[in-house]
Amino acid sequence: MVKLSIKEKVIKMKKRLIFTTEEMKELNIKTLKSRGVEVNDMAEIAYRQQSKYSSNVTMDLCIRSVERVLSFRDVFHQVQFAAEVDRLAEEKAFKFPMQDILHDDLGLFGIDETLGLDLSGFYGVIGITNFGDIDVNKTGIIAKLNEEGKKEGVCHTFLDDIVGAIAAAASTRVAQVLNEELALENPDYSKTDIYDFIEEK
Ligand code: MG
Repeated sequence: MVKLSIKEKVIKMKKRLIFTTEEMKELNIKTLKSRGVEVNDMAEIAYRQQSKYSSNVTMDLCIRSVERVLSFRDVFHQVQFAAEVDRLAEEKAFKFPMQDILHDDLGLFGIDETLGLDLSGFYGVIGITNFGDIDVNKTGIIAKLNEEGKKEGVCHTFLDDIVGAIAAAASTRVAQVLNEELALENPDYSKTDIYDFIEEK
């Protein structure tokens, strides 16, 4: 066993509360992956949703938008929290009555949807509509998560909403980026971006 110096021990023991944008994105990707969800799964939902309205949507833009959503601090906390609650419910770590309500994904519970609603509106109110569409129609991976979540010992109560909401927010970003590009076709307008809608090419 490697012996650590006192300084190394202090560094190791130090609490970590603040993460960089890149770290938050990577940690979110890792956490979602450990729960069976890839960036592509969410990008595909965004693609399916936005390609109904524009022929300029690309999978690449959808992937970049999912990654952008995953890099924000609020989203970081929401993803990490959601994944932990589901995992703890699978480990039966909650007390009565929350253990059964969470594990069995009680339809009237609602806090999972509230979290999803909050996240989905990140790039505009239309994200909330996008989230509702994904939630009701169980698009793409959402149907799979929903089915797997019904098995004994598997809890996807928060995961399905958080994944649907990330896809909805990314889908909204795609719409915002495409509208920005459309507006910029007017030569009288110059590029200034305070909203993260101008894509780096
Ligand atoms: Mg749910």
